[in-house]
Amino acid sequence: MAFLQKEKNSYSRIYIEELRERITPIIENVIKPNAEIIDKTGQFPRENLLALAKEGWNSVTLPEEWGGLDLGYVGLSVAAEEIGKADASTGLVYAMHVGAAQAINIFGSDDQKARWLPQIRQGSLGTFSISERATGGHVWYNVSQAEREGNDYILNVEKSFTTSGGQADFYIVSTRTADSVDKKDHSFFIVDGHDEGIEAKPWKALGVRGNHSGPIRFKHVKVSRDDLLPAEILDVLNGTGGILGLNAVWLGVAQGALDAAVTYVKKTVHRDFNKSLAEYQVIRQKLAEVKIRITGLRAWQFDLARHLDELRALNKPLIPFASEIQEHKVQATELADFAARVAMDVAGGFGYTEGVFERIYRDARGGIPMAPSNNLAREQIGKELVGLPLELWEKEK
Ligand SMILES: Cc1cc2nc3c(=O)[nH]c(=O)nc-3n(C[C@H](O)[C@H](O)[C@H](O)COP(=O)(O)OP(=O)(O)OC[C@H]3O[C@@H](n4cnc5c(N)ncnc54)[C@H](O)[C@@H]3O)c2cc1C
Repeated sequence: MAFLQKEKNSYSRIYIEELRERITPIIENVIKPNAEIIDKTGQFPRENLLALAKEGWNSVTLPEEWGGLDLGYVGLSVAAEEIGKADASTGLVYAMHVGAAQAINIFGSDDQKARWLPQIRQGSLGTFSISERATGGHVWYNVSQAEREGNDYILNVEKSFTTSGGQADFYIVSTRTADSVDKKDHSFFIVDGHDEGIEAKPWKALGVRGNHSGPIRFKHVKVSRDDLLPAEILDVLNGTGGILGLNAVWLGVAQGALDAAVTYVKKTVHRDFNKSLAEYQVIRQKLAEVKIRITGLRAWQFDLARHLDELRALNKPLIPFASEIQEHKVQATELADFAARVAMDVAGGFGYTEGVFERIYRDARGGIPMAPSNNLAREQIGKELVGLPLELWEKEK
């Protein structure tokens, strides 16, 4: 394929469209045809992930040194949106994986990078294991605690949700710091996904059925001190840009819903007046509303992605933008939900029957409770707005 844009220029629409063209064959030939079967059977999207790994998309943000495409958060935004358009389950697995890989790439020691990153290009899959039932979406606050064993650590941890649970090759696991009495002292470990102490339970949920986000137990799992990430990480989801990747998936889900709705209303004709659904103004108005909101959200997605890339290039932390990324998360997930509802509405009774519209409708709902849940995000954004303390990561007095 001949590309016009010879150099990376994330401000160029041509460059971004060329990245889309680059990933399109995988979406069309592998991910799209698998979407329905993944939803029906709950099968993990292994084939999709291997196809993405083969072309380097699973290492989209990693430097070339580790076999990565080095396309930054702009590249991640393109890939996650395109995957989300075709299949939200694969999108979530993908975005969590890229975030987990970034946890090592950004925060890991040279030794951790050398041991964990080269395998990613070969298909090794990562994820975050953070949420605990006892504290719900307050993910900065685990009740489990690591124990010391000589120089190493023992994890006895139960997590309420973990995407790619039982499937991942490595987990970034959070837990309270060993020996600490401060409840907010947390440690992040890189855990080998093949440890025999890991027990993942099935994922039984309304949607995103292929993403295996069920409960998981790390039972007496021994982790070497060499796999403890540095103590200064406070917020691994925002510190790695992990949420921005998920937001791009929800943007893609919204676009996928709109595309399916447009196709349906153009081809569906009422034979009494020989009018297609597209000829009804009310339907066009609803679809136009979705399109307008998608266009706005996409511009914001790329603005944030460029900014995170800029911060990385300057070796600056991403955390100061957590609040804006939460605002974006609320809009992206609620737009996916809105677009899915509109798509089902314009597709009438046929939209409600088994098929693409009801699948997207169920899938789209998944983003709203994901951390930061939209109610919690609004709470934090509102507190920040009026100058109240966020109570995140604050040490006990
Ligand atoms: C599809 C999916 C994939 C997931 N993948 C992962 C993963 O890979 N790794 C992982 O660690 N976790 C994962 N999670 C967990 C997720 O990120 C959230 O932490 C979890 O869903 C929220 O916890 P909870 O269900 O206990 O809800 P709760 O936190 O108990 O929330 C219940 C309700 O209260 C609201 N609420 C909670 N706290 C506040 C507050 N302080 N102020 C106002 N309202 C509040 C919530 O918005 C919600 O409406 C996943 C969840 C889903 C649905």
